[in-house]
Amino acid sequence: MQYVIMTMIGLSLGSFATTCISRLPRKQSLIKPRSFCDSCSRSLGWKELIPLLSYVVLKGRCLKCSAQIPFLYPIVEFLIAILTVVIFIKYGTSIKTPIIILFGLTLLCIVLADMLSRIIPNKLNFTLFITAFVFVWLVSQSGFTDAIVGFFTGLVFTFLPAWFGEHWLDKQIIGGGDIKFTAILGLTFGWEILLVLIWVASVSGLLWVLSRKLIEPKQKITNVPFGAFLGTTALAYILIVDLQ
Ligand SMILES: [Zn+2]
Repeated sequence: MQYVIMTMIGLSLGSFATTCISRLPRKQSLIKPRSFCDSCSRSLGWKELIPLLSYVVLKGRCLKCSAQIPFLYPIVEFLIAILTVVIFIKYGTSIKTPIIILFGLTLLCIVLADMLSRIIPNKLNFTLFITAFVFVWLVSQSGFTDAIVGFFTGLVFTFLPAWFGEHWLDKQIIGGGDIKFTAILGLTFGWEILLVLIWVASVSGLLWVLSRKLIEPKQKITNVPFGAFLGTTALAYILIVDLQ
């Protein structure tokens, strides 16, 4: 029964996450207007707002204008439901669990926002920061000193290449959102784990660039979503290892 409840909670969180991913990069409010169809601008009724189920029953189309609803929405709802249940199984019924679920959910939104629009919205970084702060305060075994060292490690490791790119190469290598995001991960994981995460994310990013070059040699790849790689690596750490 508890898994059913966690799945329901996960699906509802996933539904909210789709609103965040579609509205925040466009700087739109999360509250107003209510969920609407992107094509006919009509407010959606309750039959269209049941996470995952509405998409399946309505075959992915708007009830009125039959416009296609992005396939990404049910995928995100499904992924976040899975994420919620897996975190619940891994961390059990403790104060840690809701904090890590909120942290993981925000991480996933950041990954998707960065993948889709190459932007990490400030509101997502801010939510992640508050969640990380509560985690360090109530749960973490390493304490505030480690968190602060981790935070500054994240700043230095991203600010320096960003500064170098801007002043010497005349282009943006790392965006402001990535700098804040990396510092928040440093606060949460501590400097040692952060360096491992940055290393794995950089190698994955490099492999991604190389594989795209292999598929389309003439293509110019200018904008690598570093935040998406770093966020995915951090998520994998939470799910496979343990956030302490
Ligand atoms: Zn419509």
